[in-house]
Formats: sequence, structure tokens, C-alpha cells
Amino acid sequence: MNNKNYIAAHDRYSHADTMYRRCGNSGILLPKISLGMWHNFGSNDPFERSRRMLLTAFDKGITHIDLANNYGPPSGSAEETFGKIITTDLAPYRDELFISTKAGYDMWEGPYGSWCSRKQLISSIDQSLRRMNVEYVDLFYIHRYDPLTPLDESLQAIVDIIRSGKALYAGISRWPLEALRYAQEYLRARDVPPLIYQGRLNLLDRAPQHEGILDYCHSEGIGFISFSPLAQGLLTNRYDSGIPEDSRMSRNRTLKKDTLTPELQQQLSNLRHVAQERGESMAQTALAWVMQQQGVTSVLVGASSTEQLSLNINAIHSAPFSDEQLKRLTFK
Ligand code: NDP
Repeated sequence: MNNKNYIAAHDRYSHADTMYRRCGNSGILLPKISLGMWHNFGSNDPFERSRRMLLTAFDKGITHIDLANNYGPPSGSAEETFGKIITTDLAPYRDELFISTKAGYDMWEGPYGSWCSRKQLISSIDQSLRRMNVEYVDLFYIHRYDPLTPLDESLQAIVDIIRSGKALYAGISRWPLEALRYAQEYLRARDVPPLIYQGRLNLLDRAPQHEGILDYCHSEGIGFISFSPLAQGLLTNRYDSGIPEDSRMSRNRTLKKDTLTPELQQQLSNLRHVAQERGESMAQTALAWVMQQQGVTSVLVGASSTEQLSLNINAIHSAPFSDEQLKRLTFK
């Protein structure tokens, strides 16, 4: 894969029958595994590794790439990395890609650089498009619930962004159920129903199920995509023999070193045994579990190497779980 003349793998859609799922009741098919650029794609990370991961994902049929204005570090630099790669390599494939970005977390200084005012959302999408060097994104999310901004203000900004052609679909991330209901009614009444909800669902965190979000999305025809399906790497063999120097936990930022409690180690040991029985890696089993929950459209994985990404894709071929396995994977 050299810098010039990237040509996508000819067999990238050879697993199309197992790879793609309809997103809610929309016209959009998303890969069961999508790639997130939260970590490992900032300007502090080696560019060539980021490029290889993104192109490997596309070569394997991962058409959906997830970003946000603040991904990096520094904030904005993951979108810039994406912009460089789309310019040099992926431009001919723009219509094969489903690109999302978001606004709502801290992004620039001053009173308009965070949360979900009309000012923040509209200024942010303009910045994102410039950084990513694209004319539009496929999906634009409100990144978090803002308890102080009127919901109508944020939602109308999304409607207007879509009407302006800067985004094709609306997404909601991390909103509580009642607010999600309101968003669904507001957006649907204006002919831009939310395409998808983004929340954290994994073996260690089943909040979207307990809170009724997943059921609601399923019944309303809204897709659901899980972020951090591997709990940032905990649900893999990454920490089997301590904390590797190049791991996310070693940076102690979003994944703290004190997370690895004896109780968690016990849960991971259950996962390890179930994975071994199934002839899978821990990551594959953990991803398959999320993918197989009713209402889930896609899992949004992160990776720090093409090897991790390639291994994780095997989860699309995983067999269903037995009741006994599911019981052992139900952590208290
Ligand atoms: P994961 O739970 O998939 O964690 C990814 C990390 O797990 C990798 O960086 C790597 O850690 C480790 N890993 C992955 N595969 C393997 C493997 N096969 N073997 C061993 N270790 C592995 O997801 P993320 O937390 O990265 O989140 C994914 C995406 O979700 C983000 O990029 C973003 O797009 C989205 N997101 C959205 C949020 C929101 O608020 N809406 C919040 C958080 C994320 P290491 O780097 O140590 O190698």
C-alpha cells in the first residue's frame, strides 16, 4: 500500500450477505463492524499507521467511519487525518463511504465551543467539513444531552443542517430515553427522522438495555450503534499479563489503571473461558455478543493496529450463543 494510486481491494464486498445490516427501517445498510477514530488517529499518532488502518478497514468492507469534532488529540486532528486520507486515497470511493461526525463536547474556547446550542452545532459542522475536506457528511450527531439548551433549539439546528445539504441523516448520541422520544417526534414531524442512536453497550455495560433505549430504538425503527464494544480494550487479551506500554490504559486518560479490579479480572476470566470454548478470541466473542443483541445495527470498534482490526472482523461470522454461555457472560 504505497502513498500513490491506492486501489481498494476487489473483494471488499465479497461478504456482503453477512457484513451489512439495515439501519432501523431506513434505506441505509451499515456494516456490522464500523471503525471509530476517537483514539489512534490524532496528529500525535503515526500517520502511516492511521492510514493503513483506515484503508484496511475499507478493503474489508467497513464502509462506515465514525468521527467527532473533538477526536484527536489535539481536538480536530482525527478529522484532519481523515481529510488527508480521503484526499490522497479515498476520494474516488466517497460514495461508498458512510461518514459520521458529531458536535457537543468541548471543542473551542469561549462560550460557544461546547454543548448543543444552534451556534455550536452549525459552526462545528462547518469546521468539520473543512477539516475532513468533504462537501457533506452522511450522518451528523448531537454528541451528548445538553440539559440547559432547549431541545427544540438543538433539534432545529440539526434539521437545518440536513436541509442545507451538509449532512444527509441525523443521529443522537447518549441522550436519555425521554429526550430521545422527544427528538424522534420532533425530527420525524419535520421529515428528518433520526437514523441511529449511539450508546455504549458491551458485556460490562448494558445500560441501553436496562434503560429501555434499545427496545425503544427497535420498536421505532431507529438503528443502534454501540461505542466502546470492547470496553476500550478490557474485553480482549490486551491486559492478560499486565499493562503494555503502548496500550490505552498505559496513558491512563480515558481508561484508568485502577479499572483492573479483582472482580473485573473474574469477569474477564469467564469471558476467556467462553471464548476458548467457542474457538474465538476474547475480542471476537465480546463483539459477537453485542452484535447479536436485538436492535443492534453495528458495533463501533477502535483499533491501534491493522492486526486488531482484521481479527475483530471475524466476529461477523460468530455462531449464536448457547443459553449456558449467555448465563456465564451475564456479569453482576
Ligand atoms: P473499543 O471498545 O473497541 O476499544 C478499542 C481498543 O481496544 C483499541 O484501541 C485497542 O486498545 C483494543 N483492541 C481492539 N481490538 C483488539 C484486539 N483484537 N485485541 C486486543 N486489543 C484490542 O472502542 P473505543 O473505545 O475505541 O470506541 C470506538 C469508537 O466509538 C470510537 O472511536 C468513537 O468513534 C466511538 N465513541 C463514541 C462515544 C460517544 O460519546 N458517542 C464515546 C466513545 C467512543 P489499544 O489501543 O490499547 O491497543
